[in-house]
Amino acid sequence: MKAQILVVEDQPATLDLICDVLKEEGFEVQQAQSATGARESMRRAAPELIILDRGLPDGDGLDLLKELRSEPKWTGLPVIILTAKKSVEDRVLGLKGGADDYLAKPFNTEELVARVEALLRRTGKAPPPPSQTVGDLKLDLESRRAFAKGKEVTLSAKEFDLLWFMISNKNRVLTRDFLLQHVWGYEEGLDLTTKVVDVTVSHLREKLGASGSVITAVRGFGYRLDA
Ligand code: CA
Repeated sequence: MKAQILVVEDQPATLDLICDVLKEEGFEVQQAQSATGARESMRRAAPELIILDRGLPDGDGLDLLKELRSEPKWTGLPVIILTAKKSVEDRVLGLKGGADDYLAKPFNTEELVARVEALLRRTGKAPPPPSQTVGDLKLDLESRRAFAKGKEVTLSAKEFDLLWFMISNKNRVLTRDFLLQHVWGYEEGLDLTTKVVDVTVSHLREKLGASGSVITAVRGFGYRLDA
């Protein structure tokens, strides 16, 4: 069976066109018309590739891409940016933002399919997800092992995801709500207790010992990891 592809595009005609073309080629297709819709769809079923429009009703597709790239689960997900913005700067911005490929509208459907297939071939043989280092902390995504000053630290799955996410977003204040959404996968706007965030951060810092001092509580906001 061919790969599952998520198409995120707010214009119904373009969305239908892309989905029809991909289905004809035998792909499994999920669709969304906004960044929020894309998130919901990805929670239901994990896509193997995303075709992502930039101008979405609830934001720039590049922002969604940036968020996805900092979550361990989606770091290696192949993404093709589809956009009417075809200037060189936009193209560079898209690729720097973590896109694997770029297609400007209006596009040729055969070219779209060719690019999807080429990208899937390429990423099928892609190297394992990277490791991240901050100060004397090192995280390896594939083995999901963490090291502080060269010594392995045993982290729970959530502690690992939290640390990975914080390193990916280093030097940036992350609110508890934001962490709940991106590390715990809770939906925005739910009136949830944020205590679980504080508890997990506290366990994490304890386990990391002196190396845990890179995580700072920011009063009234949340947490920041300093690099
Ligand atoms: Ca659009």
